[in-house]
Amino acid sequence: MSAEIIDGKAIAEQVRADVAEKAAELKKTGIIPCLAVILVGENPASVSYVTGKQKALAEAGMADKSVRLPENTTEDELLALIDRLNKDDTVHGILVQLPLPKHINEDRVIMAIDPKKDVDGFHPVNVGNLMIGRKSFLPCTPHGVVVLLKKMNIETSGKHCVIIGRSNIVGKPLALLMAQREVNSTVTICHTGTKNLAEITKQADILVAAVGHPSTVTRDMVKPGAVVIDVGVNRIPDETKKSGFRLVGDVDFDAVSETASYITPVPKGVGPMTIAMLMVNTLEAAENTLNK
Ligand code: NAP
Repeated sequence: MSAEIIDGKAIAEQVRADVAEKAAELKKTGIIPCLAVILVGENPASVSYVTGKQKALAEAGMADKSVRLPENTTEDELLALIDRLNKDDTVHGILVQLPLPKHINEDRVIMAIDPKKDVDGFHPVNVGNLMIGRKSFLPCTPHGVVVLLKKMNIETSGKHCVIIGRSNIVGKPLALLMAQREVNSTVTICHTGTKNLAEITKQADILVAAVGHPSTVTRDMVKPGAVVIDVGVNRIPDETKKSGFRLVGDVDFDAVSETASYITPVPKGVGPMTIAMLMVNTLEAAENTLNK
């Protein structure tokens, strides 16, 4: 068997085109959806993610009030900027690109963002609302995974979804989303404390890798016909590339695609969906101000 490759780039483009249409409608009411992405420092991966987000904003016809700050910005300076953006009615979404330099406390920064503008869905108010099934901003990457499955018409109800990874930004929220009634999967979360990982992953109808290590998922760990979603983004040295590296996921793509039914590639799988869902959340944040 050879897996069907899930074209995350194409699906993300559809989602973004839909957002652009709705943003144009909203503009007729005088509201231009606006996002402020804050980048502190020059971590190359972060710079590239932020550039991608700004490009997507422009393409969706949204306003961009992003701010780039030097590495030596203090926590107080960053918190003061967030406070100003919280109070600025023309800004609907605020996103602080993580990771932050070590001298800044990430928790305090996330807590400082007004939950109504927290388009990353990381503020405890949004996390709590997700937990109890109330409307909230859903974290972009896990939400993107669920939308990918939906758009591919992949059955999730009654399926066993095994997630490798329990981070606050991917593994845990994805587990909650997959277990919600509308998605209706049975969920298992694995991590470094999991014994016999392969025994568990082989039971998965839907296997998600959100680990951060290449080749964590090998062919022998996958049940034939399983759906494999690779969230991982790892830079590995490659002298044939101008950049000196290439991106790979957490899944041994070539071997696993011989046995899976569907698989996401890296790049062009989950990654583009993360940005698309950020545009969805920014639009929603702007629409919410209509009903204020
Ligand atoms: P993270 O915070 O480092 O979490 C990784 C998780 O994987 C942890 O829960 C860890 O377990 C678990 N883990 C690590 N090695 C393992 C192993 N050998 N067996 C079982 N579990 C293992 O990472 P993250 O932020 O969730 O990101 C995961 C990956 O997704 C990274 O490559 C990241 O770059 C990528 N990512 C991609 C997107 C996108 O848009 N495509 C967005 C976000 C993240 P412990 O908890 O026990 O340490």
